[in-house]
Amino acid sequence: MRALQMVRYKSDPELVDVAQPEPGPGQVVIKVGGAGACHSDIHILYETAGEGDTPWRLPFTLGHEAAGWVHAVGSGVRGLEVGRAVAVHGAWGCGACSRCRAGVENYCEHPVPQGGLGIDGGMAEYLLVPEARHLVPLPDGLDPAAAAPLTDAGLTPYHAIRRSWPKLGPTATAVVVGVGGLGHMAVQILKATTAARVVAVDTKEEARDLARSLGADHVVAPGETAAKEIRGITDGRGADAVFDFVGSDATLQLGVATSRPLGDLTIVGIAGGSYPLGFFSVPYEVSIQSVYWGSRSELVELLDLAARGLVRPEVTIFPLEKAPEAYRALHDGTLSGRAVVVP
Ligand code: NAD
Ligand code: ZN
Ligand code: ZN
Repeated sequence: MRALQMVRYKSDPELVDVAQPEPGPGQVVIKVGGAGACHSDIHILYETAGEGDTPWRLPFTLGHEAAGWVHAVGSGVRGLEVGRAVAVHGAWGCGACSRCRAGVENYCEHPVPQGGLGIDGGMAEYLLVPEARHLVPLPDGLDPAAAAPLTDAGLTPYHAIRRSWPKLGPTATAVVVGVGGLGHMAVQILKATTAARVVAVDTKEEARDLARSLGADHVVAPGETAAKEIRGITDGRGADAVFDFVGSDATLQLGVATSRPLGDLTIVGIAGGSYPLGFFSVPYEVSIQSVYWGSRSELVELLDLAARGLVRPEVTIFPLEKAPEAYRALHDGTLSGRAVVVP
């Protein structure tokens, strides 16, 4: 079968022929219906230093955001009939540690490689899922290609926003920085699950237009006046929650400058920026956290929102043979919403 692989560090991904996977005991092979291209893959492909910087063995198939149909099940797998449409919960943990047992495999204490992040992922005709528990049946009405982005571009902001729900009442303001694959879902998730005003920030005008069309109450271009503009929108108080889908020095600075005392500043983007933390450098009682992906139960909740039409990924479909073009466009910043590769 055809697969898009990371073959070398600091290089473009390549389309190659690989063997079709067979499920072992407890495993499931899905026929991929769609796999999303995440900006994390850009960091992985071009920004990791190389051998020794990661625990991975190259080559491996990219794609950590996928949905499809059950194609073959290994012995011992129950309740997943062939042909069933499923989403893959990609934050694969060991399944045995206390975090995994509590259902938060995204914070597994003995992390294992995850599909598309060190072992074969979903940018191929078939995907081997090592444990049947990682599959969540798709609710009626959700097509795998449209649902694939929900498993990361949707799930990651859903997790980040969900933990700030208590701070996002009717008088609150939420700021979304970076309205790409994740951020355009964040705007919708905020509108669907909170009563907060939403301010969206992006360098690109098209992204700001997309945010507005998805319900953002205000859009702001980053730059010297952005913090002042956002403070103005909040009558000087600042934002109750800032979700940073970039994570650069500049966006962290903007996040701190616009945070309200007692607010949340959540770093999702992995641009690798930093901010000097100290008593005098951040407003009182602002909680600053980084987040990684989301749990399976959060994915179930998000799929429910999507099946009811309350959130909908904006996707551009690329056939597998054109997957390198999807990554080129993601790298160059010319996409809107999410690129989904359909084999
Ligand atoms: P994307 O390329 O689709 O979107 C990024 C958006 O940010 C673009 O619209 C771009 O114009 C905008 N942007 C860039 N610099 C900006 C700036 N200085 N100010 C305002 N906007 C700016 O990327 P994506 O796939 O949505 O991923 C976003 C980030 O989240 C990436 O760093 C990715 O690696 C990371 N990520 C983290 C997790 C996690 O679990 N923490 C999961 C998935 C992705
Ligand atoms: Zn991702
Ligand atoms: Zn674990």
